[in-house]
Amino acid sequence: MTIQETSLLRTSAFLDGSWIPADSGRTFAVTNPFNRELIVHVANLGAPETERAVAAAYKAFPIWSGKTAGERSQILRRWYELVMDYKEDLAILMTLEQGKPISESRAEVNYGASFVEWFAEEGKRAYGDVIPSHRRDARILAVKQPVGVVAAITPWNFPIAMITRKVAPALAVGCTVVVKPAEDTPLCALALAYLAERAGFPPGVFNVIPSDDPAEVGKVLTTDPRVRKVSFTGSTPTGKLLMKQAAGTLKKLSLELGGNAPFIVFNDADIQSAVKGAIASKYRNGGQTCVCTNRFFVQDGIYDQFTAAFAEAISALKVGNGMDASVDIGPLINDSAIEKVNRLVNDALDRGARVMVGAELSNTGPRCYSPTLLLDVDPEMDIAQEEIFGPVSSVFRFTSEAEVIAKANDTPYGLAAYFYGNDHARIWRVAEALDYGMVGINTGMISTAVAPFGGVKESGFGREGSKYGLEDYLTVKYLCWGGIEGE
Ligand code: ADP
Repeated sequence: MTIQETSLLRTSAFLDGSWIPADSGRTFAVTNPFNRELIVHVANLGAPETERAVAAAYKAFPIWSGKTAGERSQILRRWYELVMDYKEDLAILMTLEQGKPISESRAEVNYGASFVEWFAEEGKRAYGDVIPSHRRDARILAVKQPVGVVAAITPWNFPIAMITRKVAPALAVGCTVVVKPAEDTPLCALALAYLAERAGFPPGVFNVIPSDDPAEVGKVLTTDPRVRKVSFTGSTPTGKLLMKQAAGTLKKLSLELGGNAPFIVFNDADIQSAVKGAIASKYRNGGQTCVCTNRFFVQDGIYDQFTAAFAEAISALKVGNGMDASVDIGPLINDSAIEKVNRLVNDALDRGARVMVGAELSNTGPRCYSPTLLLDVDPEMDIAQEEIFGPVSSVFRFTSEAEVIAKANDTPYGLAAYFYGNDHARIWRVAEALDYGMVGINTGMISTAVAPFGGVKESGFGREGSKYGLEDYLTVKYLCWGGIEGE
């Protein structure tokens, strides 16, 4: 599989409508996580270019926000159509730099594009309010305005979708954007910029800053007073650091951080559909999503049946090069990801967990880990406390509803949770009791552009997708219009 439209493969940064090298002339290598082979070198930008990108976005803001929502919508729509036109090339690029199976890359291009399509429409509906006044001589209005220049800092696990779900609502309401993509996956971000350029966004509206020094670029984006909002998806420690840095200029923030998702299977669950949901929520992207299940809780009465059926389904998953269409699980993103999974699994085994499937490196590639199922895991083990970010399931046994709710909530994180069961009263109770921003009930797949994605506790705040995702890029301005009483 090769890319047909070679101009999608960009090696320069996109700043103020131009493709530029780094001031220093420096580049960094982008490699294929499956075999560590070099794909290409891209421009390695730093603080001075980031400041220029912010200046360009600041200058473009009155031009872009001055357009009507309909005018912006048309350009966004063109961008969506271009992304769909080059879907196959973008999917190949994604599997090359990120490693996920090609079918998942195709699905991500669709998913990523769906944010652009959806917000192109929703941007037209950034309604304000006319509020009944407290005074006869005055009228009260609440109008929604774009927040200003937005910095988007994005991770490598969804190289297109994590960008579009921030950028599309921002652009739809009139904000201008500076994107800093993850250093592992800048190519999809640059391809999106190339298609945005072709779609006709004015210079400065959409800028992409590739860099292998995220701290230097991030410092500018979180401290420059012209940036009014930072939207970040990534790890909780980095999110906390960015929040501290942004405090100096009190920027609006959206933080979508780590998770520790529980997946609860009650005795009355349908086993086959629970296994299907478990596979989808755990093994998608090799376990490298922030909503991936991290802890399976299975009730006594169904424990043996569920774990046997789950083990069978896990054993059928094929690991290898994502370019091979028959592969279900690609490589992990880099060497430190493999080291982390090894460490967590070994710690669990040393402390008494039992292997039902896997628990070893796969011989298909240096960063391929065999899909794994561990039983008899204890909540004290590191694997129950840390985000695994790999294809490893750990299963806990429980007896009562109260016990499992307490265990599921016993984490600083609060992003996604899942449960399977058929007692309607309990479904309602458990959905309310889970201290999470998102709950999948009898499903392991919850992500869509039309629903509000986001967490509570140390998983962050802000919502992406849906009408709530638009609000994150708007401010409410109150107009009090006096002197209206009659002659
Ligand atoms: P992950 O564990 O997914 O790599 P990170 O939080 O390190 O999580 O990375 C997510 C994004 O945050 C990436 O784009 C990365 O380059 C960026 N990043 C990491 N450290 C910083 C920092 N100090 N300032 C700004 N961005 C950062």
